[in-house]
Amino acid sequence: KEFRNKIKPNWCPGCGDFSVQAAIQRAAANVGLEPEDLAVISGIGCSGRISGYINAYGLHGIHGRALPIAQGVKLANRDLTVIASGGDGDGFAIGMGHTVHAIRRNINITYIVMDNQIYGLTKGQTSPRSGEGFKTKSTPEGSIESTLSPLEVALAAGATFVAQSFSSDLKQLTSLIEQGIQHEGFSLINVFSPCVTFNKVNTYDWFKDNIINLDTVEGYDPTNRLAAMTKLMETGSMITGLIYQNKEKKSYENLVHGFSQEPLAHQSLALSQADFDNLVAEFR
Ligand code: SF4
Repeated sequence: KEFRNKIKPNWCPGCGDFSVQAAIQRAAANVGLEPEDLAVISGIGCSGRISGYINAYGLHGIHGRALPIAQGVKLANRDLTVIASGGDGDGFAIGMGHTVHAIRRNINITYIVMDNQIYGLTKGQTSPRSGEGFKTKSTPEGSIESTLSPLEVALAAGATFVAQSFSSDLKQLTSLIEQGIQHEGFSLINVFSPCVTFNKVNTYDWFKDNIINLDTVEGYDPTNRLAAMTKLMETGSMITGLIYQNKEKKSYENLVHGFSQEPLAHQSLALSQADFDNLVAEFR
């Protein structure tokens, strides 16, 4: 099971995205997938390149639109494991509408966000995840907007799987991606993935000093939605680990009445030429 390909990533040395790439490759192998079982769909940004760096089906989509494409792929072929990925600007700014609706729709895909709290590809502008007072070229006097808390939004939107990890913790990150893939429904995994070139505030050391790892918090119950929301609010979302999971709710494709268990992509159209002509005529 070889999920590595020969393409050398052109991320900056030390970029947190390398670990996310490695964790996806390890998780896919650990859960027993073959490359032809996996599709990785990405948006635009440094992190969006990840779909080209994994030996699987891949599509580097357009800005903020990884999730609509990924949902289409899953509905066309439910046998595929589908991972959508991108950065915090991609998923929590231009793509936020898609993110919220994919969450509440609960289609069985895994969304991995590489959250570096800045726009890296365009050389360092403030993102919705940047802290208040954060100075960049786009906010030279410091950001005056509130920092978005996407995991609180996800819980409020009815998420069935919410997790967070850190690029430095490859073991935890790999395990969470495995759990996300195996979760029956939409799984959101936000990854603190430092941009070493443009974000000199939220560095590896800064995260190490500020993160609380839920794996070390005795008695934390990830099936308790209220406790999850409380923990996020208490800590400013600086927690890692499995934050919330609801195994009871069925995924979208298992709730749609009459939705075929056989992947649509494998089905024969079985239309006669006359039927096809009539169908086309309806759209004229
Ligand atoms: Fe990574 Fe930042 Fe470099 Fe982009 S600019 S590759 S996010 S370190």
